[in-house]
Amino acid sequence: MKDGLKPYNGGEISLYFHWAYCTKKCPYCDFNSYVSKSIDYQAWLNGYLQSLKNQAKFFANKKITSIFFGGGTPSLMSPEMVFQLIDYCNQHNKSNGFNEVIEITLESNPSTFEIAKFKDFKQAGVNRLSTGIQSFLSESLKFLGRNHNVKEAILALEESNKIFDRVSFDLIIGLPNQTLSMWQKELNFALNFFKEHISIYQLTIEEGTPFFRQGIAEAKEEIGEELFLYTLETLQSKSIWQYEISNFAKKGAESIHNLNYWRGGEYLGIGANAHGRIFFNNNWYATKEYKNPKIWLEKSQITESSNNPIFEEFIEISNEDRFEEIVLTSLRTNEVLNPQIVNLLSQDKIQNLIENGLLEYKNSSIKTTNKGRLCLNYVINYLLT
Ligand code: SF4
Repeated sequence: MKDGLKPYNGGEISLYFHWAYCTKKCPYCDFNSYVSKSIDYQAWLNGYLQSLKNQAKFFANKKITSIFFGGGTPSLMSPEMVFQLIDYCNQHNKSNGFNEVIEITLESNPSTFEIAKFKDFKQAGVNRLSTGIQSFLSESLKFLGRNHNVKEAILALEESNKIFDRVSFDLIIGLPNQTLSMWQKELNFALNFFKEHISIYQLTIEEGTPFFRQGIAEAKEEIGEELFLYTLETLQSKSIWQYEISNFAKKGAESIHNLNYWRGGEYLGIGANAHGRIFFNNNWYATKEYKNPKIWLEKSQITESSNNPIFEEFIEISNEDRFEEIVLTSLRTNEVLNPQIVNLLSQDKIQNLIENGLLEYKNSSIKTTNKGRLCLNYVINYLLT
């Protein structure tokens, strides 16, 4: 038993709001996102607010340390809705004596319609904007089925850099036929718009997506590695550090919200299929909201009873599972592991991974090396089995 993980020193929690709609479904995407012609924004706002009230006991007296609007495409939400939700959270913090400004991120897509709302989102309280650029090449944007062009991508970044102090954007690598020289040009062009944070994801082909059905293959391992090593070297030379496998930032500009996930902190998930990890009555629980947006909307209006649970899943997490979960997420980061966790792992296996250059000692603990993060699945499986 991994009882060493208890007691948990709680008192802080992050909030995630999931907006389940997009203007178009990208063929590689397996997120819980849908295209709908008619969305009743007021009903959704009511649903989010009621869901917050239904889950209030899980964050009573806790400080909300970050808010993240993800999706889907949350820049399709109305700024008024976003304001109301932020206001609810700010009131919660104030009434508990917490008055600091917290990180509030909203994910956006670079369509003209959404760019026009950036200023309103800032006014609503958003202080960090993360934009899904994915590529600066027309052919790649077409291949990825994105709903924007290169001109819009550039405009979105110019505007977000002007309006927000804290910004990030996403790119995808490992597209079929992408060569190192193509990626070198693209990354160097992207850096013209870099302010403090960038996320670079490898294209993965998920079952059930149109790309999977079309038989599109993921990039070969050697090419993926080559692209990633170039990315690491280039960003490191500009003092942009890889603080998690796919996330790079200037020191101090890391996403507080995402770090909380990887460090094993508490978070509440609100919205269709949103997941949470909450510490309640001295136990950890995994929560999952109803996946189907229509069902979620109906369920969010009700008060919990045995016939009407507010979650699709509410599962107590065993100490063993919790331990594995934290090992899995912490090793993704470039930070040292909690020494409590290190003590519970096999010291022989740790030594072996250090000798092979996959882990290293730092600050009386261990962390993954660049090489270790490239074959993270191997490192995790080896340590946990
Ligand atoms: S915009 Fe994002 S969430 Fe929506 S379908 Fe495309 S990848 Fe998925």
